[in-house]
Amino acid sequence: MNAFKHYVNSFLLTELCKGLGVTLRNLFARKITVQYPDEKTPISPRFRGLHALRRYPNGEERCIACKLCEAVCPALAITIESEEREDGTRRTTRYDIDLFKCIYCGFCEESCPVDSIVETSFFEFHFEGRGENVITKQQLLAVGDRFEKQIAADRKTDAAYR
Ligand code: SF4
Ligand code: SF4
Repeated sequence: MNAFKHYVNSFLLTELCKGLGVTLRNLFARKITVQYPDEKTPISPRFRGLHALRRYPNGEERCIACKLCEAVCPALAITIESEEREDGTRRTTRYDIDLFKCIYCGFCEESCPVDSIVETSFFEFHFEGRGENVITKQQLLAVGDRFEKQIAADRKTDAAYR
């Protein structure tokens, strides 16, 4: 009986008609293809993209060189060196993140007591030269300066959902 059914289906091209039906249905359906990079999909405020080091509004860097982020990083991607300043506060002299090692887990961000190291929603970055995968303190601060508005807005939105 099954063989007969199979024979009839093959003869009437049932599977082909079903397939064409799907094509026809989607031909007139609302298009969902996004024309990236001209169009972009919305990004969650919790998206974990390129890292940044933030500053306070007076320009002072937030990081107090406690090294919690370095200790918690499961990929050992963060390297920090620090020294005491004349005013007795401690600041980093070196803060590197190896983006090839980083798995974008967000642990560094979670562990930071002063909301200094964060992950921005920026993901359109690339490297062209050897060693560019290691992003330095100055670069991280520059990313922070560039995206501070977005970073602050994302934190507000995220807090509202908690
Ligand atoms: S996101 Fe995770 S893996 Fe990347 S630097 Fe932070 S703690 Fe390390
Ligand atoms: S970024 Fe935050 S957790 Fe890492 S050393 Fe600086 S203050 Fe500590």
